[in-house]
Order: sequence, then C-alpha cells, then structure tokens
Amino acid sequence: MTVVTRFAPSPTGYLHIGSARTALYNWLFAKHHAQYGSGGRFLLRIEDTDRQRSTQQAVDAIIDGLRWLGLDWDGEALSQFSRIARHAEVAHQLLAAGNAYKCYCTPEELQEMRDAARRAGRPVRYDGRWRGRDPAEAPKGVDPVIRLKATTEGETVIDDLVFGHITVGNDQLDDMVLLRADGTPTYMLAVVVDDHDSEITHIIRGADHQRNSFRQLQIYRAQGWQAPLFAHLPLIHGADGAKLSKRHGAVGVETYREEGFLPEALCNYLLRLGWSHGNDEIISRDQAIEWFGLDAVGRSAARFDRDKLASVNGHYIRQTADAALVDLVLPRLKASLKGGFAVDASTRLMKGMAELKERAQTLVELADNAAFYAHTRPLPMDGAAAKTLDTAARSRLRALRDRLAGVDGWSAAGLEKATRAYAEGTAVKLGQVAQPLRAALTGGTASPGIFDVMEILGRDESLGRLDDVLAAAK
Ligand code: GLU
Repeated sequence: MTVVTRFAPSPTGYLHIGSARTALYNWLFAKHHAQYGSGGRFLLRIEDTDRQRSTQQAVDAIIDGLRWLGLDWDGEALSQFSRIARHAEVAHQLLAAGNAYKCYCTPEELQEMRDAARRAGRPVRYDGRWRGRDPAEAPKGVDPVIRLKATTEGETVIDDLVFGHITVGNDQLDDMVLLRADGTPTYMLAVVVDDHDSEITHIIRGADHQRNSFRQLQIYRAQGWQAPLFAHLPLIHGADGAKLSKRHGAVGVETYREEGFLPEALCNYLLRLGWSHGNDEIISRDQAIEWFGLDAVGRSAARFDRDKLASVNGHYIRQTADAALVDLVLPRLKASLKGGFAVDASTRLMKGMAELKERAQTLVELADNAAFYAHTRPLPMDGAAAKTLDTAARSRLRALRDRLAGVDGWSAAGLEKATRAYAEGTAVKLGQVAQPLRAALTGGTASPGIFDVMEILGRDESLGRLDDVLAAAK
C-alpha cells in the first residue's frame, strides 16, 4: 500500500515550529515508505477557507518555511477554498441519504440552548431539535444549516498509532454543522472530504485535534468511506510546562532562520522533540528517513529547550563546509557593516572559517565573531580592547610593528617567532604583547589565534591596523 500523508496548515502569517514538526513527521513517514516500503507521498493542503486570514503573504510564509526546511511536497499545493463546491456536494449527498438534516434554529435559539446547558452544568451541545422534525415546520426567512445526523449510541474508537486504543461515547458528540446557512462548508466537513478525495492513508497531526478526529470519523462512517489511520502527536510545551506559545519567545520558523539557525539543525532538533532512536541526538536526514516510524513517537508532551537547539545548531555549523558558511554569513555582514564592508571580506572569511566555525552556535554569533575580518579600516574597538591598549601596550606594539614588518613571507609561524623573540628580548610575557596585538587587529579581546589572524589579514592590512592604533595614540 502506498502511504499518503499530508500537512494541512491554516495560514496564520508564519509557520509555527510545532506545525513544522508535524510537517516533518508527515514528510519523513512518507519518505520512509517511498524508500523502504511500497511507496509514499506527502501532500500539502492550505486550509485557506478563512478568507480574512488567508492572504497571499500568510500562505507564502508557510510555503517559504517548508522550502527552507527542505520539506518538499508531491504535486501542487491544494487550496481548500478552491474545493468548497465539492464540500457542499458531499453535504447534500449526506442530506439526500438521510444522514444529515436541515436545522432552522435561529441564533437566539442556539444561544438559549447554550445558556440552559451552562445553567444546568451540562456540556454545551446542540440538542438535535430539528433531527426528526418535519421541514414543513420551517420558519419563514431562516436559511437552514445542514447538520450531520450523528450516531448517538455506542462509542467511536480510534486505534491511534501513537496513543493506542482511544474511545469517546457517541452521546458526547452532537450533530455538528456541515454546511453553514450561507452554503459554505465547515472546517470539519472540508477536512474529511479533502482527505478522502486525496486518498490520505495516515493523518498525523497534533493531539489538540484528537476530538476533531472522533467527529470526523462520524462523517467517514456516514458516507461509507474508508477512514484513514490516525496518529496524534503530543504537544510541545515551553520550559514552564504550558503549551508553547508566543509568550515563551519565538514560535515562528522564520524567526529561527533570522536568528541564525540552520534548517538541518532545526529539523534534527524537532525530530528528537517527540521521537527517539535510542540515545541518538544527531541524526542525518538520510538516517531519519531510514529510521522514522510512528511507533517511536512518545506519548508525553515534549519541552522545547532553546539551549539544546543552539547546541545542535553548533554541531551542524561545524559540519557545514566553509564555503557554504561564508555564503551564509556574508549577506549578514554586508547588511550590518554597510559602508564598512571590506572588498577582501570573502577571501579572508574563507581562510578563517575553519577556526571560526568551531566556536559559534548560531550564524548570528558566527557573523559577530567574523566581523573583524570583514571590516574596513579603521576598525572600531570595543571597550575592553580600548582598555588593553594603554600607554605601555602601545609602546610595545610600536617596537613590535617594525619587527613584524621585517618578517619574510608573512606566515603565522614566522610572525609568532618574531613576536616571541621580541617578548623574550624585552622580558615581557607573550600575553602582554599578544593581547594588545589582538585588540589592535580585531578590535576585541577574544578571537581565533592571533598569528593565524595576521596571516589571513595579510601584511598590508595587519600593519595598517597596527598603524591606525599607533597613530590614534599620538
Ligand atoms: N488546519 C489545521 C491546523 O492548522 C490542521 C488540520 C489537520 O491537520 O487536519 O491546525
């Protein structure tokens, strides 16, 4: 059997990281079956029936997020709104078959029903008053809604691929609206019709949809359609144990992208947030495709831990080729340095990347640490660097400058040798010379090995930066 999964986001203006995890699991499940089973397809359906919220921009935010994460879908993305005629058709089929009925309740009546239920401490449910009633009694001027004639006896069962056997008493589910009075379909109907017509075999989505699944199963049953299998994913919580929301910080994938996270790292982190393969933490995409299955999805809510994500990101940064990191960091530096962006930045970064990437957890950090390579002269100094460059340090630098200028070949080894010889000759510790050098050449007090930095900056730039500092002291 070919497995067909889908991701069915409602456009909200951004791709929520919880939704991204849902998309990832659906994608992996389909890919796993495509490669190791008898076929798999992953579909994208945009649930854009709320016309107010479904702007092109909001749809693009989801599509861009998925593309950035590398979660490609089969075929065209389907617009749910484009299918409302089909949804209405199914509502009328249900009506014709006696599995649905017209309800003429006015908004006031429904409000009374809700108030009465609340007063009596009962759950708010539609009481089925038009279920058996003769449509000839319909009040004039009220457009009816179409409601499902839901089964009231027995229970609805789901053999959830994550939560196991779960049930709800059918007396708990009321006759839901399928088609509104204006002829538009409800979410509940649209989802079922689209999933059925797309031949979805597995619905993998958040546990917050569990109740919807029971209700949707009733529509499958009424239509005599084969229902898909369900897998509900435990929710993601913030550090305080509450459902992850904006008050915990960024929840949009786009923000993580801006903050310098790599898509591979975010996917790896989200994969492990709710699914495990032994104690493996770093899992490549190929391994994930090979290993992914719903049986290893946990049942308890996972906690989102930004520090853990940053550490996974640091790992992926170290694994990324230097040239690719340069390409990622350069636009950030161009934007932040503006006119101060040096023409040689790319060459210098390429040479310095091997060392720089060992120390950064995000691309933002990497760009910050690399900025001194990309900056034109004169270099700005941070407070600690300026403090390092006191009168004594400057006079040492002045003497050292001429020794460095005489170094043949300008290699890190040659520069280190000359600096050590100078330090020994004047009986100061190497650090007393190297720290001022670092301040003058990088504008900061922490950097990659200073002799490597000098080699990468080259003779003219290095001596120029020293001269800028020495000239400023005069
Ligand atoms: N559109 C729903 C949402 O964004 C998901 C529907 C579904 O997966 O069935 O929460």
